[in-house]
Amino acid sequence: MSDLPSGFESFSASRKSAFLEVQKIAETQPIVGTFCTFVPRELILAAGAAPISLCSGNDEVIAAAETDLPVNFCPLVKSSYGFAKTGKCPHFHFAKLIVGETTCDGKKKMFEYMGQGKPVHVIHLPQMTDEESVAFLANEFRKFARRLEEIFSVTITDEMVAKQISLVNDERRALQDVYRLAKSDPPLLSGKELFVMFNTFTTSIGHEAKLASARVLKEQYSSRPAGAGPRPKRILLTGSPITKATVKVIDAIESAGGSVVYIEGCVGSRPNELLVDEKNPDVYDVLARKYIKIACSCMTPNDGRLQTIGEKIDEYHVDGVVDMGLVACHTFNAESTLLREYVTKTKSTPFIHVETDYSQADFGQLSTRLSAFLEML
Ligand code: SF4
Ligand code: SF4
Repeated sequence: MSDLPSGFESFSASRKSAFLEVQKIAETQPIVGTFCTFVPRELILAAGAAPISLCSGNDEVIAAAETDLPVNFCPLVKSSYGFAKTGKCPHFHFAKLIVGETTCDGKKKMFEYMGQGKPVHVIHLPQMTDEESVAFLANEFRKFARRLEEIFSVTITDEMVAKQISLVNDERRALQDVYRLAKSDPPLLSGKELFVMFNTFTTSIGHEAKLASARVLKEQYSSRPAGAGPRPKRILLTGSPITKATVKVIDAIESAGGSVVYIEGCVGSRPNELLVDEKNPDVYDVLARKYIKIACSCMTPNDGRLQTIGEKIDEYHVDGVVDMGLVACHTFNAESTLLREYVTKTKSTPFIHVETDYSQADFGQLSTRLSAFLEML
């Protein structure tokens, strides 16, 4: 029990069991903590380590974060930092290395603070997607691989990376097989089920476990009888990442009779739509080409997001688009005007932007606005 945090005995039973579970994994494999889908899991796996998403999904640790970070940072950054600071995230506690990235300013500063207590490696991201930026990112990925080699005393060959590229592609394909079931009309699975699946995949460890759970879910959902009764309004949800704290947006949509059929977000399809090219032997180049296309609002311009949303509106027969921005997430909230114009004018589809945080205090207000939006469709 000696490597458990000092406050362990005061934790709830479910948190204690999460710690013990991660402790068991950490005994056989080093854990590398990540916060963002720009971090190439393939390289961490090639180093023999387990990449795992760090906790950031609720507001109980935000007050602790605000003693170091400004109150007007986005709740995702404050929650991430708060979990690290209070020792309440088992993944952070057992991680041998934290991987940061320079997506937004709040995160950059957070990683400086985190680096005071744990080894942190920051991947510098370009802001554009041109050829020079691809070369820059490929070089950042090479630097990251060298850091992993150094910290875990391993050698990462191109063959090892190529093998992981193929395995992680398999995981993405397995996920696609499940989330694409929502194309059926009426959808075979709800938005809440989509969220739970994406969230479980993001936080789970192990290739076989991920594939097996995708297979089970595919069987379970595809064997459901086609729904009867009124056809739910089909919603595409986009914006800042959805977490357990903001799943309230999906709840509000679905309790008003809508169905979220596509989640264009980082806990969603955003990191999983595109595969890494397995034919090109330059593994760092192909990784850079895949990851640079993640349509995060930190990219400028971020035309890829509009293009994806346009395609998915057609493919999933979407009736309306809900854009969820976290309070103080400047880039996603600013991009909303552009997105509204594209969705309503080019795609002739109704659009609503909502802003929220990690508290549950605005659930009533969100429900009222989203019910009115659904009624109008
Ligand atoms: S929204 Fe952007 S910064 Fe956040 S996890 Fe996704 S890629 Fe990373
Ligand atoms: S939600 Fe927005 S501000 Fe917060 S970490 Fe993600 S991109 Fe940055």
